[in-house]
Amino acid sequence: MRVAIIGAGASGLMAAAAIVSKGHDVTVFDGNEKCGKKIYITGKGRCNFTNLSDRQTFLENVVRGGKFLQSALSRFSPQDAIDFFERWGMKSKVERGNRVFPVSDKASDVTAALLRACDGVKFKLSHKVKNAYKSGEEFFVDGEAFDRLVIATGGKSYSATGSDGSGYALAKKFGHAIVDCVPALVPIEVEGAYISSLQGLSLKNVRLTAVCDEGNESEFGEMLFTDKGVSGPIVLTLSSKINRKTCRCLELDFKPALSEEKLDGRLLREFDAAKNKQIKTVMLSLLPSRFVALFLNMAEISEDRRVQSITAAERKRLVKLLKCFTIKFKKLYPIENAVVTSGGVELSQVNPKTMQSKLVSGLYFAGEILDVDALTGGFNLQIAFATAQAVGSDF
Ligand SMILES: Cc1cc2nc3c(=O)[nH]c(=O)nc-3n(C[C@H](O)[C@H](O)[C@H](O)COP(=O)(O)OP(=O)(O)OC[C@H]3O[C@@H](n4cnc5c(N)ncnc54)[C@H](O)[C@@H]3O)c2cc1C
Repeated sequence: MRVAIIGAGASGLMAAAAIVSKGHDVTVFDGNEKCGKKIYITGKGRCNFTNLSDRQTFLENVVRGGKFLQSALSRFSPQDAIDFFERWGMKSKVERGNRVFPVSDKASDVTAALLRACDGVKFKLSHKVKNAYKSGEEFFVDGEAFDRLVIATGGKSYSATGSDGSGYALAKKFGHAIVDCVPALVPIEVEGAYISSLQGLSLKNVRLTAVCDEGNESEFGEMLFTDKGVSGPIVLTLSSKINRKTCRCLELDFKPALSEEKLDGRLLREFDAAKNKQIKTVMLSLLPSRFVALFLNMAEISEDRRVQSITAAERKRLVKLLKCFTIKFKKLYPIENAVVTSGGVELSQVNPKTMQSKLVSGLYFAGEILDVDALTGGFNLQIAFATAQAVGSDF
């Protein structure tokens, strides 16, 4: 069969490898001058290409499409991905949180291995596909005839890597519904002139809660401040969970391990031991130094006050603020800045075993163009690979 694949990213290359291995004539189109442009920037250039968690944990990290993906993930598991890359000359290593990387720490090795597996595939690079349709039993891709078509054009973030959302228009032309695309794994913009003064500051072991009309979401871990908002692991995770909710504000708990009562006790002890010191000095044991002046300002306590002059009511105010520092939510950063796109080809119109369209026979989808997304940790690339292998299984 003559098979066209639109997109030479993680899913397009994996689909090409799977299909060419069965002896078909495969042509891959990509608008870029080289393959796998997004792969190069994944995992900060190290490419966290899969995650070795057990099935249950893996699915807990899938935000949208978990049920749909079960079959593909069980037939091409994270271990299968590791074995695949090993077979094609790339050894891997497992790090914290079961994240798997190439042993070389080079994302380019992932692309190189995929390209070795694509031996025999024809590449039409610097070719952005404008038009694809089916006439009779044949598919036409910018005028060229094929027997099967795979759309693997990715999402619409980091458009300089080629995934600019043009694939959704192609899918729509075949009659497919597209679930509204919103940013996922993205920083959050907040209100407040003070934010820029905190840029670059990172906080560890904090709890951040997004207060939403549809129910709150909360994450514990590390976050950091940007020029106009917040980012870091727990913020990215929260963004994926609230991107379809109405968020009112973020509540930051600096001391999630302590109840208000215990924290008050700790403050009392610290105040007792440092009666003559300025409050700003004592607060250094509870907050990063860059936060202290701002924090005391919010608590309406002058930073030069002696600890012994702090009233019980003021101490309670400090406790309340340490447990619940409210940050006004503005919006998520734009989709361009999102690690992944939430939304895409509506899953009910796609066969989860083969990724074949239920509307147009011979048409397939793989990777991020589908309405699937997951948290950070190698889950998104594993989804791209598993859906691509599911396509291959139908040839
Ligand atoms: C900064 C960053 C870091 C990331 N890090 C990780 C990580 O460490 N681990 C992880 O699991 N995931 C990571 N991801 C997510 C992961 O990269 C994507 O989920 C994955 O690349 C999706 O693969 P895909 O093949 O579906 O799409 P893509 O990799 O985006 O590939 C789509 C391809 O289609 C081409 N294309 C699009 N439209 C057309 C057209 N009309 N004609 C021709 N070609 C077209 C594009 O040029 C592109 O090459 C990261 C994402 C970003 C942005």
